[in-house]
Amino acid sequence: MKLPKLFLLLLTLSMISCAKKDETTFKFGVWITADAKRTDEDYAKEFKKYKDGGIDEVLINTNTDPKLLGRLVPIAKEKGLKVHAWIMAMNRPNDSVALQHPDWYQVSKDGKSCFDNRPYVDYYQWLCPTKKESREHVLGLVEGLAKVKGIESVHLDYIRFPDIFLPISLLPKYNLVQDEELPQFDFCYCDACVSKFEKEHHKNPKTSHNTAIDMEWKNFRLNAIKAVVDDAYEIAHKHHVKLTAAVFPYPEMADHMVRQRWDKWNIDEVYPMIYHSFYNEEIDWVGYATKQGVADLEGKKTKINTGIYIPGLKSDAELKEAILMAKDNGAIGVSFFDGNALSDSNLKTIAATKASLK
Ligand SMILES: [Zn+2]
Repeated sequence: MKLPKLFLLLLTLSMISCAKKDETTFKFGVWITADAKRTDEDYAKEFKKYKDGGIDEVLINTNTDPKLLGRLVPIAKEKGLKVHAWIMAMNRPNDSVALQHPDWYQVSKDGKSCFDNRPYVDYYQWLCPTKKESREHVLGLVEGLAKVKGIESVHLDYIRFPDIFLPISLLPKYNLVQDEELPQFDFCYCDACVSKFEKEHHKNPKTSHNTAIDMEWKNFRLNAIKAVVDDAYEIAHKHHVKLTAAVFPYPEMADHMVRQRWDKWNIDEVYPMIYHSFYNEEIDWVGYATKQGVADLEGKKTKINTGIYIPGLKSDAELKEAILMAKDNGAIGVSFFDGNALSDSNLKTIAATKASLK
């Protein structure tokens, strides 16, 4: 009788310590973009470099190619890395299927379609989140990735509208002043969106006195993105993987800049891109924005990994500071943008900072 009791006690203790460890292990990730032309050996080398530098997970953009992802998962796992399937969700540059359907694309307030009239940059090719065919196309791509064996999550990126306001540091680059909502950057006024909105609210945004202060029209678009996310969550979980997303720094800011309200989504983890240099902010803003997001998610299941923009850091000392600020303000991990930007000295700093947390 004594032995089983002791065994049970040990088992219970080890379960408690495992659960505790899982809860408190701060994780480190990196976003990378895959290239099918590179060899398995080359990727094995790259993944080992990350693992040695303290990285725990890679978020891989395979241009929504399940085959390429399936090739890379075992290589990464063999090096001890977890893999997330990163997908450009509503912005689908050069999507060969979507390009056959010009009516799937978002339309601006001044009546131009993203299909052939792209805001800011040529790769801004946004699909409508309301139109049945375009949202089903995106969700089909999510499912294709969710089925890949061994991944942790499908990781949504560009899960929002095009920027109605660009980050302040980017405005001079485009020679733009954005003191108000400009019609050429305001989406989606396609027939599907306008008619669905009219049905619900008995008014037409095209004849609105001022769409910038029409809260139903704003909320309609926030909800259109939320509906895609919530459906993607069901799909991911059906295939026993998580749903995660790269999002704007904190909910109010995401709402204001890109019509994205991620604190209301059904999602496991978010990776807010707290890229302080985009907004001409100081390094302490990484802590501020992390804290705001964590507070907005209080009582909810969704956890935060702080996204850190490596080229925006002045030194390895700042890198360490950013990691510690993310942790101190309630993030469960950090993720770096991107793999190419991480120097050997950055990786040494990450490994040393990770070791100091134990
Ligand atoms: Zn639309």
